[in-house]
Amino acid sequence: MKHASIPFNHNQVGWPEGQQYAPHPSLQSDITADWVVVGAGFAGVAFARRMSELDASLKIVLVDAFSSSESSSARNSGFVIGLPHNIGSSTAELEKAQSYRNLLQEGIRQLKRVTVEHGINCDWDVAGKYHCQVEQGNDKLLDEYAHHLDMMDEPWEVIGGGKLYNRLGTRFYSKAIYTPGCVLVNPAQLIKGLRHTLPENVLCFDNTPVMGLQYGKKVEVLTPFGTITADRVMLATNSLSPELAPGMTRQASMATFASITEPLTDEQLATLPTMQSWGLTPVNAIAGATFRFTRDKRFLIRQHVTPALKGKVDAAQTYEATLRHQQLFNKVYPTLQKVRLTQTWSGTISVTRNGAPVWARLNKHLYTAGGCNGAGVSKQTIAGSLLADRIMKYDNPLIEDMISLGRANFLPPSPLLDIGIAGSLFKERYLGRNEI
Ligand SMILES: Cc1cc2nc3c(=O)[nH]c(=O)nc-3n(C[C@H](O)[C@H](O)[C@H](O)COP(=O)(O)OP(=O)(O)OC[C@H]3O[C@@H](n4cnc5c(N)ncnc54)[C@H](O)[C@@H]3O)c2cc1C
Repeated sequence: MKHASIPFNHNQVGWPEGQQYAPHPSLQSDITADWVVVGAGFAGVAFARRMSELDASLKIVLVDAFSSSESSSARNSGFVIGLPHNIGSSTAELEKAQSYRNLLQEGIRQLKRVTVEHGINCDWDVAGKYHCQVEQGNDKLLDEYAHHLDMMDEPWEVIGGGKLYNRLGTRFYSKAIYTPGCVLVNPAQLIKGLRHTLPENVLCFDNTPVMGLQYGKKVEVLTPFGTITADRVMLATNSLSPELAPGMTRQASMATFASITEPLTDEQLATLPTMQSWGLTPVNAIAGATFRFTRDKRFLIRQHVTPALKGKVDAAQTYEATLRHQQLFNKVYPTLQKVRLTQTWSGTISVTRNGAPVWARLNKHLYTAGGCNGAGVSKQTIAGSLLADRIMKYDNPLIEDMISLGRANFLPPSPLLDIGIAGSLFKERYLGRNEI
């Protein structure tokens, strides 16, 4: 049996810590369960919660190689999107985008419900989102985006010049399309809160890497100091630990990096227009940078995507990202040269060939909800909870929306896969070369 390649980020998450929760133990004995959920990110936590809601008598065990605070669910930029980034104008693309919107918006509703019910403080802020372009005079991408938003009857506003400067405090961007529905959060506080408010029949173990799955009448979930014998397993690892998924691969892990600054001083703030918290995404997500200005007056920068098929990022890659982000920050905010980054971290996203999710039964014991394709707060939440609905035969019309997103295509094995990824990254970086 090929053991799972456990992910590792040689860096620490920089989101400000909020409420503290008691840590979960690691598994130290052999146990049994009805369900084992591997991975405590948004997908795993939503699946466990929904399963428990549907049948409170089930014994559900949720294990993570580290903890929810270490997952990409804690390491992301905190945009809880309600609209797809890419829409497309053909009838089929538009129908898919409408299904995708239904799913994302239900994901937001579920997250909102749980945060309110359990008083999870994650700086929930319906701030909207600026989709920004740097290059002057080439409005093709923004025009297309506006056209697609119209086709979906979504409100939007185009903003440029002095008005954009007043909102974002920079003249780096030539134009933006603002859409009002996006929620901004501190994702580390959100996922921690979700994980620590699960119902009692969900038993949680941290620092418990699943090294392999062994099949017989039941499935044995092998961890270093205890085996869990279960009826069924939900693989909520996105594209991580690919060795746990049987058959040919349909998703690949890529790493992306984020940095956060110290909070701005009053003196530094005085050099900017008075701003509320905001978030912006670039027209080219691979080459360009995502920026946020947080409630506590810090900037967050997310930029650079690189292959990480085994989910590993080392200290040198992290340091290179720090240098890149500091340089970028100085370019976007030239009056804030003294503002320093306090932390750079990485995390992984899953990428599929055709953009469709991996949301399926993999064999008679094993299910998965992966293939986030770069966006996972609302998307992986709904993917996890709907998978539970489908397994438990709960009649939810959104299951049809999920199915309509299609199925991820197979990916070729390495080295063809590595060449393919390098080629598409090169292309995207070239196309977006004027966006940084
Ligand atoms: C820097 C960055 C910025 C991003 N920004 C955004 C954003 O603003 N908005 C958005 O929607 N999305 C964003 N994303 C994407 C988002 O974070 C992911 O889509 C989301 O985290 C996927 O959730 P998940 O639950 O499927 O997987 P994950 O969050 O990756 O969780 C998987 C879990 O599985 C565990 N695991 C893996 N292998 C094993 C094993 N063998 N045994 C036990 N446990 C294991 C891992 O430790 C991990 O905790 C960003 C990602 C990054 C990295």
